[in-house]
Amino acid sequence: MDFDLFVIGGGSAGVRCARIAASHGARVGIAEERFWGGTCVNIGCVPKKFMVMAAEYGINAEDAPSFGWDIGRGPHDWAKLIAAKDKEISRLNGIYTRLLDQAGVKIYDARATFIDAHTLDVGGQRLTAERIVIATGGHPVRPEIPGAKLGIVSDDAFYLPERPNRVAIIGGGYIAVEFAGIFAGLGAETHLIYRQPLPLRGFDEDMRVGLAEALTSNGIILHFDTTPVSIAANGDVKSLALSDLSMLEVDLVFFATGRVANTGGLGLEAAGVKTGPKGEIPIDDMLTTSVPHIFAIGDVTDRLNLTPVATAEGHALADSLFGNNPRKISLQNVPTAVFSIPPISTVGLSETEAAAKGPMKIFITKFTPMRHSITGRPRKTIMKLVVDAATDKVLGAHMLGEDAPEIIQGIAVAVHCGATKADFDRTIGIHPTAAEEFVTLRTQTRVTGEDIAPR
Ligand code: NDP
Repeated sequence: MDFDLFVIGGGSAGVRCARIAASHGARVGIAEERFWGGTCVNIGCVPKKFMVMAAEYGINAEDAPSFGWDIGRGPHDWAKLIAAKDKEISRLNGIYTRLLDQAGVKIYDARATFIDAHTLDVGGQRLTAERIVIATGGHPVRPEIPGAKLGIVSDDAFYLPERPNRVAIIGGGYIAVEFAGIFAGLGAETHLIYRQPLPLRGFDEDMRVGLAEALTSNGIILHFDTTPVSIAANGDVKSLALSDLSMLEVDLVFFATGRVANTGGLGLEAAGVKTGPKGEIPIDDMLTTSVPHIFAIGDVTDRLNLTPVATAEGHALADSLFGNNPRKISLQNVPTAVFSIPPISTVGLSETEAAAKGPMKIFITKFTPMRHSITGRPRKTIMKLVVDAATDKVLGAHMLGEDAPEIIQGIAVAVHCGATKADFDRTIGIHPTAAEEFVTLRTQTRVTGEDIAPR
C-alpha cells in the first residue's frame, strides 16, 4: 500500500485527522479538490463571522454618539470588506497546508475517487491505502421551484461583487438568520421568508420568540408561515412569488434551505460504502462506514454539522487508529451558537426536550443590556436555565444576547460536568456583566410537567 491512511477532503475534519495520524507515525496522504480548510474556513464560519463583525461595526457606529463620540454611520465599502476577508482567508489556507506539510502528510491538490475499496484515483494517479477516510463535507441545496437557479446559495454570498440593496433570504435555520443580520446590518432591505411560525426550529422556544423580536427590531421584514413559489428575472430585478400570493421585487434571492453531503461521483459503490436516504454516509460510534477499513467524519455523515464536532471526530479517529487510544465522540451537550445579531447560544436540552424527561424548573431573565440603557437601542438579552426538578442538574442553558457564544462556552463546561443549580448559585458572579445573571437566577419562572413546589 502507498499509504497507511488516505484522507479525502481537506476541511476541518480531514486536515485534523491527517495531521494527527501523521504525528502518530502513520504514512498519510490527503486530497483536496477545491480549497484547504474546507467550508468553515472558506465559505462558512470564518468569513461569515467577519461579515457579522462588519455589520456590528455599523450598529456600534450608530450607537457611539450616545457615549460622546462625534462619529456617525457612514457608507459601507463592500468591496473593501470582501478584499480584507479574502486576504485573511488565503493566509489561513496557507496555514492549513503548512501544518499538513510540517506533520509529514503528502498533499494532493486534486479530486480523489474510489476505484475499489483500497484504491483511489487522485487527479489521474492510482494510489492505494490500508485505510481511507471520507471527509468531503456538504453543499447547500435549493428547493425545486421554478427559477430556483436565479437565486444564490451561501457559497456565492461570500463573493458577491457588491452589496445588494434588497435581499430575500429563504429559510429559517442558522445560515438564514445569520445572513439576514449581515445584509440588514450593512444597510440592505432584508426579507426573511420562512415556512415555520418562528425561526430556528429545534431551538428553545423562548430564544426563538426573542430572536423574532430582535430581527424585527433590526429592521428585517419577517414573512413567517410562508414558502417561495417561483422566481422570475426582470433585468437585474428578481420577482419572487410567495405562498401568501404576494410578490417581492428584490436584487438578490438567497436560498438558505439546508445542506446535503458531498457523496456524488465519489465512486462509493466501487468501494462498497453505503449511503443514507439524503446521500449521507452512516457510521457507527467508531466512525466506521459499512466497510470496516473506510471511515467517514464531519458533515458528510450529516449528524451534527458543526466544525468543532468535525475536528473532534478527525482527532479521535486518528488517535483510535494510530495513537493506541481508541475513543468515541459524544454528541451529548454539544454547545452551539447562531451568529445572528444579537447571537443565540445554547448547550444541552431545550425546555421542550427536557420536559419529556420529567418536571423541570425553568429560570428566565430578560433585561436591557447595560450599554443599551445609554444608547436606548431596543435590544433585550434573554437567559434561561432548564433544571431537572428531581436531581437539580442543569440540563440546558440558553442565551440570546451580545457575547452569548463567549458566555455559553464556559457554561458548557459546567453542564458537561453535571453541575446542579445549587452549584451555579454558589458561584460568585463577575460584576457588572451579563454573564453573572447565570449565577444569580434566583426566581423560578415556571415548572414544566407536573406542578411541583419549587425547592
Ligand atoms: P438548516 O438545516 O439549519 O436550515 C434550513 C432551513 O431551510 C430550515 O429553516 C428549513 O425549514 C428551511 N427549508 C428547507 N427546505 C425548504 C424548502 N423547500 N422551502 C422553504 N424552506 C425550506 O440549514 P442551513 O442551510 O441554515 O445550515 C446547514 C447546517 O450548517 C446547520 O444546520 C448547521 O448544522 C450548520 N451551520 C452552523 C453554523 C454555526 O455553527 N453557527 C452556521 C451555519 C451553518 P424547516 O425548519 O421547516 O425544516
